[in-house]
Amino acid sequence: MTDCLFCKMVSGEIKPDLVYENGRILAFRDINPQAPVHVLIIPKQHVATMNELSDPILAGELLLVTQKIAELEGLSEDGYRIVVNCNWDGGQEVYHLHLHLVGGRRLTWPPG
Ligand code: AMP
Ligand code: ZN
Repeated sequence: MTDCLFCKMVSGEIKPDLVYENGRILAFRDINPQAPVHVLIIPKQHVATMNELSDPILAGELLLVTQKIAELEGLSEDGYRIVVNCNWDGGQEVYHLHLHLVGGRRLTWPPG
């Protein structure tokens, strides 16, 4: 997808603040962090929203990579939140699936 911001990060056209990479997944710091740690975890393959995620291996790998990054960022013990915004009501702004890993401060609930 040539006009997709996160595909441009996968291709290297835009250089993200990289946190982790493997063959199928890329993780980088959010440009507008909502907490001391705010990392976005994306599939390298273009998947527009949570509704289009169909590969169970990729779905599991996204979660386990996020768990690993939480550990690397020192969040495991105190805790953290994983968020996926989907479509309009979910507040999705970038239409390339991404998991938000947020932590490093006490987070409130319910979300806005
Ligand atoms: P969402 O509202 O779930 O689609 O989240 C999109 C996220 O992408 C927001 O938290 C933005 O701050 C973040 N974002 C937008 N542009 C960039 C960028 N160039 N680098 C890193 N994060 C970005
Ligand atoms: Zn994309």
